[in-house]
Amino acid sequence: MKIQKTYHILITIVISIATLTCSKNDGFNNNNGGGNPIIANGCDGYAYPNWVSSPHKLPYPVGQSYQIGLSHCSGAEHSFGEPDQFAIDILMDIGTLVTAARAGYILFVEESGVDFQEKNNVVVLLDEDSYFIQYQHLTHNGAIVEEGDFVEAGDPIGYSGASGNARAPHLHFVATDWDFSKPYGTYPYNSFQMTFSNTTENPRSLIQYETYEALPY
Ligand SMILES: [Zn+2]
Repeated sequence: MKIQKTYHILITIVISIATLTCSKNDGFNNNNGGGNPIIANGCDGYAYPNWVSSPHKLPYPVGQSYQIGLSHCSGAEHSFGEPDQFAIDILMDIGTLVTAARAGYILFVEESGVDFQEKNNVVVLLDEDSYFIQYQHLTHNGAIVEEGDFVEAGDPIGYSGASGNARAPHLHFVATDWDFSKPYGTYPYNSFQMTFSNTTENPRSLIQYETYEALPY
């Protein structure tokens, strides 16, 4: 019995290490939305837009609530100094509707990838402040919008998934810049801090493990 228990612990450790290991195969983030024992309160040394007057809304329909995985500066690809330091992982089942965080144009759509495989399905929304808002890991054929579409805040964008080698389904949501001289999504890009006006207090943006309801706006 004791041997069996030791074996069990060993397997658990191996699985944990495997889960923590990250891969960047395609220039996009591939993490699992999982945890880090230290919960960050945003990225140190950065000012945040006032959440009450933020022009950005949660990227899911009013009335829905989701838990946050990795968020700003909370570990793995979301660590301080990484291109995705200001990315937010929203823990959602495959096929969950995601919506526009703000009005803007759809600049980029990739939806040919398959869940849990390498190709990352991404929709990019260019908002009014020239943020390139990325919706990553969407499910196969999961984009509702097409390149060139104009969307208002709250309009459907697509369905979340686990493409791009995500180890667990989630939406990787991040506002970035875009270097047009390189193929889209090439690291390193810069990401930007974002707060949300249609939910509970989030002065340092969304916090890992917390659950946020999208309130009417
Ligand atoms: Zn992520």
